[in-house]
Amino acid sequence: MDHLLNTYARLPVAFTHGRGVWLWDEEGRVYLDALAGIAVNGLGHGHPHLVRAIADQAGQLIHTSNVYRVLRQEQLAERLCRIAGMDGVFFCNSGAEANEAAIKLARLYGHQRGIELPTLIVMEKAWHGRTIATLSATGSRKAQAGFEPLVSGFVRVPYNDLEAVAAVAERNSNVVAVLLEPIQGEGGIHVADHAYQQGLKRLCEERQWLYMVDEVQTGIGRTGDWFATQQAGVSPDVLILAKGLGSGVPIGACLARGKAAEVFKPGNHGTTFGGGPLVCAAALATLEIMESEGLLANARERGEQLRAGLETALASVAGVVAIRGQGLMVGIELDRPCGALVTLALEKGLLINVTSDKVIRLLPPLIITKAEIERLLSDLIPLVRQFLEGA
Ligand SMILES: *Cc1c(COP(=O)(O)O)cnc(C)c1O
Repeated sequence: MDHLLNTYARLPVAFTHGRGVWLWDEEGRVYLDALAGIAVNGLGHGHPHLVRAIADQAGQLIHTSNVYRVLRQEQLAERLCRIAGMDGVFFCNSGAEANEAAIKLARLYGHQRGIELPTLIVMEKAWHGRTIATLSATGSRKAQAGFEPLVSGFVRVPYNDLEAVAAVAERNSNVVAVLLEPIQGEGGIHVADHAYQQGLKRLCEERQWLYMVDEVQTGIGRTGDWFATQQAGVSPDVLILAKGLGSGVPIGACLARGKAAEVFKPGNHGTTFGGGPLVCAAALATLEIMESEGLLANARERGEQLRAGLETALASVAGVVAIRGQGLMVGIELDRPCGALVTLALEKGLLINVTSDKVIRLLPPLIITKAEIERLLSDLIPLVRQFLEGA
């Protein structure tokens, strides 16, 4: 650790291996993983089909280049477009990069329409990544502080406030797109109303803006459907994916539909590593396993079980402000900062996260069983109660 730059205040634990929702540390202690590498390990740890797919692909071909056709990339694009109802994909290596691609696509779309200072509407408390442009789109002053000058071309509005977006439309003729998380993850598990999402989409159609959704955290089954925007019945022009797509190998994707899929031409955008055979094989295996094991339904049902259990045990406890979420993306907002709970849970063999200071965030693997949800509830609930009583 002495030679790592100081970007993380790390917890004092290192894992050596995992199986399903369980992780083992150097001392052989076992932990229930209710964070899944921040919504990455949807298949849990050591899924045999995934491991086999990665090993087989590594033996065949790991990397060539995007100057050639990449067969696994074409297969993954075809499959992803089919499940998402989109027309084309650009693959990259992370959520931030996928958002960068979307931001560049929106700007180019604007220029092609004669708008010289294209502007994106973004949300308060949004999280889109830590590169300079995505940090500028992000709505966290804490994350931005010290990195100014930020990139221009973003207008920020309150989340779930359609009037605020309509007001920007009236006064700003440079807008080319809206960028929305259907459920804000890092911002504290805030869910966008369905009527709001539908209203945004309508406004985008009227104004010829691109409706872009950042599903880096919500996508690939996390909320019980392939994509959270499906629950609102709206289809985006641009769909941004990453975290759960590769089950732990780094892959991001920017999908586009209709006119948005016609914007990029050769030379406009690119990547050395993005969409290589290895990561695409892992993502293909992920999608196959999600289907064959019925993980969308499992995320829905286990999510309901989890939220019902939390509601029953905690909703009326003093200090619990709200229990929010969808599928296996759940937040418990307390009335006080609760970062200390992460260490208390760790000591009890439970991996959780706290985001936005006061929100306990649960993102367990999508393969979690009924009995494992019961275990999660019985481990977590007393901890939260003791924390609130003892404070
Ligand atoms: C995590 C996250 C990102 C950034 O992804 P990285 O892979 O960390 O760059 C972007 N958007 C959302 C909604 C996220 O949750």
